[in-house]
Amino acid sequence: MANRLALVTSIATQLMAATPSTTVAVSEQVLKTLVDQLGVDAAFLRRNDHEIRASKLVTEWPPRADPPDPDPLAVVSFTTADPVFAACAHLKKLSVIQPDPELSGYVRQIPANHRNESLSIAAAPLLSGTVTTGMLALVKYRRAKWRSEELNTIEAIASLFAQAQARIVAEDRLRYLADHDDLTGLHNRRALVEYLSERLAPEMLGPVGIFYIDLDRLKPINDLLGHTAGDWFIQDFGRRLRAQAGTRSMVGRIGGDEFVVIPDRPMSPADAEKFADRLQRSLRERVDIHGHTVTSTASVGVAVGIPGHDSAAELLHRADEAVLAAKRGGGNQAVSSTEDMSMKSLFRKDIELHLQGEIDDESLLLYYQPEVDLWSGAIVAVEALVRWRHPTQGLLLPGSFIGIAESTNLAGDLGRWVLRTACAEFSRWQAEGVRPNTTMRVNVSPIQLASRGFVQHVVETIDEFGLPPGALCLEITERAVVRNIENTRRTLAELREAGVQIAIDDFGTGYAVLSHLKDLPVDTLKIDTVFVRELGSNAGDLAIVRAIIALADAFGLQVVAEGVETSAAALTLMRHGCHRAQGYLFSRPLPSTGAQALLASRWMPMPFLADSQALVI
Ligand code: C2E
Ligand code: CA
Ligand code: CA
Repeated sequence: MANRLALVTSIATQLMAATPSTTVAVSEQVLKTLVDQLGVDAAFLRRNDHEIRASKLVTEWPPRADPPDPDPLAVVSFTTADPVFAACAHLKKLSVIQPDPELSGYVRQIPANHRNESLSIAAAPLLSGTVTTGMLALVKYRRAKWRSEELNTIEAIASLFAQAQARIVAEDRLRYLADHDDLTGLHNRRALVEYLSERLAPEMLGPVGIFYIDLDRLKPINDLLGHTAGDWFIQDFGRRLRAQAGTRSMVGRIGGDEFVVIPDRPMSPADAEKFADRLQRSLRERVDIHGHTVTSTASVGVAVGIPGHDSAAELLHRADEAVLAAKRGGGNQAVSSTEDMSMKSLFRKDIELHLQGEIDDESLLLYYQPEVDLWSGAIVAVEALVRWRHPTQGLLLPGSFIGIAESTNLAGDLGRWVLRTACAEFSRWQAEGVRPNTTMRVNVSPIQLASRGFVQHVVETIDEFGLPPGALCLEITERAVVRNIENTRRTLAELREAGVQIAIDDFGTGYAVLSHLKDLPVDTLKIDTVFVRELGSNAGDLAIVRAIIALADAFGLQVVAEGVETSAAALTLMRHGCHRAQGYLFSRPLPSTGAQALLASRWMPMPFLADSQALVI
């Protein structure tokens, strides 16, 4: 008896130490101990999978010399006629089974010389509450009586197994929860960072490519179609991303609409770019949400890290910067992180020279894109868009250098230069005859908006160039507005006081600014390019655009559509009550002289109005 107690205690200790990864080995060790100590011939442990209504072999002792492949004992349906496995399903207390050697699939697997009538199995259920989760079985090949203390021991050990199994399932589940995202079942940020850190350890093979993926239009779907639709959209995207990234990639979701893919093979920067382009294209798809067809596109940021050199945090940050650049460039594209230090120092030098007024080479310059009234063709505004002439790469768009400005703390300097230059040129154009009631729109970065002395700088600049009140409109993205809503509210109120207009840029793509619209001093909403480009052919976009127009109406705001490229888009906008537009259909952004000439002519030709029979008003 004392022996039995020692046996149970020692097995309890072994099982307590088992973890998800050691559980099979520990169980096998326990079976061996049982076989030895109880003097029986064999033992096996099975686990139930009630989902597939089958019992699965965990381990056995002694191991079979040469089990067939596939192993007929590995997974056995509850519905089998074999009493050994039928018992697995619902056995509630220990029972002794004497299987018919002719019929039993189990007996067929034991050594031939033992297959006889006298084989006897003591089977004890593993119970979790009232559910049978498995079975512990000890086998005597030659029928000998089972003594009651033997049976008691088997029952006690079965209950230890049941406890260990329950604990391991719970631990597994906890680990899963700690590493996975509830909504999509993909890995979460913690798991990704851990994996990326392992990949970047000095001895690992590199370079390591990482891909930061940002859904282009989750916010408007959440805001306009509801959160259930938004959740569904994320899940659907997660599934497609998983399929496109391939089974050998780590795929995770690290924020609302932000995903990361890390392929398990090393990747050169060139390979990474190709992978990103392919991934980006393959993710573009039309999906149906609650009866609306929405084109689901994503922006991809690429960064490549060197093991032993880059940290996981740095690499993620670079990929994040790259995806922001992709979004600034209008989304629906892949952009690689250019960790080009020389680019940073060049940019710094150019900015400093321009700010000091020591410019002879015009490496920073403004282009201007007109905004028209769709009904009359009158040019009502121009937007200043900054360009940087790089010595070897030529004229660069803001998407490729605003990130540099921000990461080198030059955003404020750049912003001051843009505002001064735009006001100076605008006032010169007006002196030379451009219609006084045109608006000059200038983009303001979030950093600039939040910087000290911003309002004062704006007011001084307007005064310096003698611009009429209302001539200047500052464009602020939704993201900037909600970043610090109290500060923004104060800043915007002061700007309004000074006679400056405010537009919310890229409306529909940022963080829900909706709830604040009512009490922010805003004049105009600019509908983001992504919803406008395919207007006329994309019903989902139309749903969003109409919702924005209705919203602007309700709050008494002007609404301007950006990115109008086709007559169909222009006509659709007119039909739904948006009267102002900007886009390649009318004019690309132009250098200063071209813009001045265009403004002086006052009207743009509106050839698409020839199709205006299509307008049903
Ligand atoms: P944004 O303010 O939304 O500017 C509109 C962008 O859309 C411009 O790109 C413009 O060239 C482009 N665009 C205009 N019409 C069309 C069209 O029909 N189709 C398409 N596909 N695109 C069109 P750009 O000049 O590359 O500027 C990109 C972004 O960079 C701007 O987006 C703005 O957020 C930022 N940015 C530009 N200039 C400045 C600046 O001076 N300061 C700050 N902080 N940001 C700026
Ligand atoms: Ca803008
Ligand atoms: Ca915009």
